[in-house]
Amino acid sequence: MIVPIEIRQPEFKRYDITIDTLPKLHYDRKVAIVTNTTVAPLHLARVMERLEAPQIEVIELPDGEEFKTMETVLSILDRLFEARYDRSSLLIALGGGVIGDMTGFASSLYQRGIGFVQMPTTLLSQVDASVGGKTGVNNRWGKNLVGAFYQPEAVYIDPAFLETLPEREYAAGIAEVVKMAVMFDRDFFDFLEKSDLKAPETAVEMIARSVSLKADVVNRDEKEAGVRAVLNYGHTFGHVIENETGYARYLHGEAVAIGMVMANELAVDLGQLSREEAERIRVLLEKWGLPTRYRVENPEAFYEHFFLDKKSRNNRIKFILPGGSIGSYVMRDDIPKAQVLKALERFRE
Ligand code: NAD
Ligand code: MG
Repeated sequence: MIVPIEIRQPEFKRYDITIDTLPKLHYDRKVAIVTNTTVAPLHLARVMERLEAPQIEVIELPDGEEFKTMETVLSILDRLFEARYDRSSLLIALGGGVIGDMTGFASSLYQRGIGFVQMPTTLLSQVDASVGGKTGVNNRWGKNLVGAFYQPEAVYIDPAFLETLPEREYAAGIAEVVKMAVMFDRDFFDFLEKSDLKAPETAVEMIARSVSLKADVVNRDEKEAGVRAVLNYGHTFGHVIENETGYARYLHGEAVAIGMVMANELAVDLGQLSREEAERIRVLLEKWGLPTRYRVENPEAFYEHFFLDKKSRNNRIKFILPGGSIGSYVMRDDIPKAQVLKALERFRE
């Protein structure tokens, strides 16, 4: 017997992303702030000052990507049960992308889903991770392989959090910003080239423009059936680099910076990007101290690594490249292996 069922889920959910000084927040429900041992001493007091709720628990996790696991998420859930939190309770993610991804995932699981709010504190999480509703954890099979699409109720991006962020982490966030500009917005790229992105006014503008570009992509394609894949520009190569270097040598944004430069080499060969624009992108990345060189020991092995990516399907690798110039993109899964190897050869010395 077949019982057909059609569930019309009220999928559509609207929420605001506020880019400003953290406002005063009043909640009439229990709140748990999930943060880590690095961020708590720096920023928790200021958040507490602005927060009002009948009960506030602080769940302080150890700091590090290695703790972005199911076990840690289960420990968050345990704390919520111990404190008798219910379906109306709210989680607040105060930290970088690691905290945001785990808090969102824990929210999606606790009693089948409770509300959560993002307060991203790294540039990368402000411009990228806190927007779009991807949540999850790593396991021994790879990064972000277990998770859920789960949107927050609100996102509060306070650029003041960035004052304590190490320079290297800031630059890693810039890499994702450059990615957005190269793919979608030539005018934004010009802005990045000529602005002092550490100056507060320009930082706010940079964050706002990145967030709206990402929000627009997610609105068009939440589950990555199409255009959302464009956000993987630089990532196809970058993931292999992170993998080859055991996730130890480079921050994610740094690997993405190298990855974009590699993708651009391929794009130049294919007539998708002028040499001059490829140089402009490289120079902008280097201005931020981002790496743009990497020694590919073995191009064949590097190429084989592409297939370990969860995003390569049916033995086809989807390359995201500039689509003729800065500010436009093309997705191609028909690039001959020899063409890719040729570009990789340039990274051998
Ligand atoms: P992170 O969360 O590890 O933060 C980087 C470091 O900065 C950590 O040591 C953190 O404790 C510290 N830190 C955070 N805020 C600080 C502050 N204000 N001052 C000083 N130190 C601070 O890393 P990240 O780069 O923010 O995020 C990376 C994670 O985000 C990865 O796990 C990645 O998979 C995930 N991510 C998710 C999405 C998504 O769409 N969900 C997108 C991109 C990345
Ligand atoms: Mg990324």
